[in-house]
Amino acid sequence: MTLTCTGIGIGVTSSIAIGEAYHLQCGQAEARRRTIAPEDVEHETARYQQAVLGARQDLNAVRDQIPKATPTDIYAFIDTHLLMLEDAALVEAPIETIQSQRCNAEWALQLRRNELVKIFDAMEDPYLRTRKDDVDHVVGQIQKHLLGQQGSSTAIEEDLKGKIILAQDLTPADTILMRNQGVAAFVTEFGGPMSHTAILARSLGIPAVIGVHRVTQYLKHGELLIMDAEQGVVLANPDERTLEHYRNKSGDEQAHIASLRALVNEPATSVDGIDITLKANIELPEDIEATNDVGALGVGLYRTEFLYMNRAQPPNEEEHLASYKRIVEGLNGIPITIRTLDLGADKEMDSCCHEIQPASNPALGLRAIRLCLKEPTLFRPQLRAILRVSAYGPVRIMIPMLSSLQELHAVKSIIEELKQELKDEGHSFNPDIPVGGMIEVPAAALAADSFAKHLDFLSIGTNDLIQYTLAVDRVDDEVNYLYDPLHPSILKLIQLVIQAGHKADKAVSMCGEMAGNPLYIPLLLGMGLRKFSMQPGVLLEAKRIIRASDIGSLTKQVANLMSHLDEEDIVQRVKQLSSVMH
Ligand code: PEP
Ligand code: MG
Repeated sequence: MTLTCTGIGIGVTSSIAIGEAYHLQCGQAEARRRTIAPEDVEHETARYQQAVLGARQDLNAVRDQIPKATPTDIYAFIDTHLLMLEDAALVEAPIETIQSQRCNAEWALQLRRNELVKIFDAMEDPYLRTRKDDVDHVVGQIQKHLLGQQGSSTAIEEDLKGKIILAQDLTPADTILMRNQGVAAFVTEFGGPMSHTAILARSLGIPAVIGVHRVTQYLKHGELLIMDAEQGVVLANPDERTLEHYRNKSGDEQAHIASLRALVNEPATSVDGIDITLKANIELPEDIEATNDVGALGVGLYRTEFLYMNRAQPPNEEEHLASYKRIVEGLNGIPITIRTLDLGADKEMDSCCHEIQPASNPALGLRAIRLCLKEPTLFRPQLRAILRVSAYGPVRIMIPMLSSLQELHAVKSIIEELKQELKDEGHSFNPDIPVGGMIEVPAAALAADSFAKHLDFLSIGTNDLIQYTLAVDRVDDEVNYLYDPLHPSILKLIQLVIQAGHKADKAVSMCGEMAGNPLYIPLLLGMGLRKFSMQPGVLLEAKRIIRASDIGSLTKQVANLMSHLDEEDIVQRVKQLSSVMH
């Protein structure tokens, strides 16, 4: 048998899949123009309306099939498409074209699609430019109904279990449906690390390699493939020895996953007996299941932004309370840290903040705590609800993006005022609710000792700390090669914060992505970090690493590394710290 290396793309998970190739025909069928008789215009209009309705029904059905424990807001992908199916641009404009040009519905839709794609193509923002994919996905969904094909994809009816799907691109709806059918993996021609397909594959736990150019031309339907997502490689027609090698690798991986499950109820205690606290980051009430499933000791970061998104008015106190209560009760007594609103910059402010002028530089403008202090109608109902939910379980408040002590004093005085209000109204709450702050702006890290005096706990937000320290926009592809968690400045700032917390006897945790990255955990342990909060999906691997760590020895090695931070082999030396755990 021959072995062909067919392509290298971007692996979005770290798994291996072996299976038969399945070609998914998902390209848009070219619509042809047909002129229709005046008496057929009404029928053609109705046919188009029926197709839009059918597309909506399909998407609603897919929405119901999203796995409940998925730890990301993947509903948003489907909701965006559903909103587009309500928009006049796709609902009304093609009908006007059918009527004015007396043409068939497929052609009218194609014309509209071309216009919309042109608009997206002209956009300067590279992220928005890629959103033309959404237009194509929704148009494709309507076209299928016009062509009389039911369901989200032509392939959905077939048995896809164990197959490796090859496609030019995948719609979010197809991705969800095929995951539920047990596909082994996806390989696509298009897409980057932040594309919908990549994000969905990661959050649904499907092995995937994306951006393998022309893969659908080179690989045949039905042939045997090996997909190594860690290397971003797809191999066709492997010989026996290669197959054996990958089967073993994949078996090791499965055994590794199974062995991690055995750690769920074990403590995260190091070899030399130091207890580490591992908590989960969550964004939605649905994430509770994943949190409990991995045995997290609490929620170290609950991002509350989703409550404010996709709506015309900010949520009121009772809405906040209902949502927080559901989460607190679902956590069965483990503690939760609720972060107050952090809208702005990468977390889009949409219609519920329509009175606020767009900032000229959103990352440095009115975001997070700055926005909350400016807009009491956004902030006070949230704080009142957090205080009220503290009567139902161990709840802490966390303030994002603090940069000056003045802000902290202002927040604390509002909290005291609200406590008095709630008391007067007869509501119960924990009068000693801990108030902590995120240390994610370099100024706050450098002044961590002052903040530590006035906060009950500190949590290091490395995602923003890296962005602000290195002046690298965290979502801009063009500069992400500069986004370096191991930059000496970042390591120095992290160490400053940990030391400030220890000195003031205040707990320090980390809730940025760095906390859940296996490469950095030994380094952070050696720096003195004892509390970590991360996506539930990586928590058991973190626990495994901690249980294999000798923190005493790491402390000495890291002290040595920190005293030679000007050297250029930091990455190598950090890798060595973790090499003993593999
Ligand atoms: C961070 O900045 O590290 C963080 C955890 O917050 P977010 O990613 O929500 O900005
Ligand atoms: Mg942040």
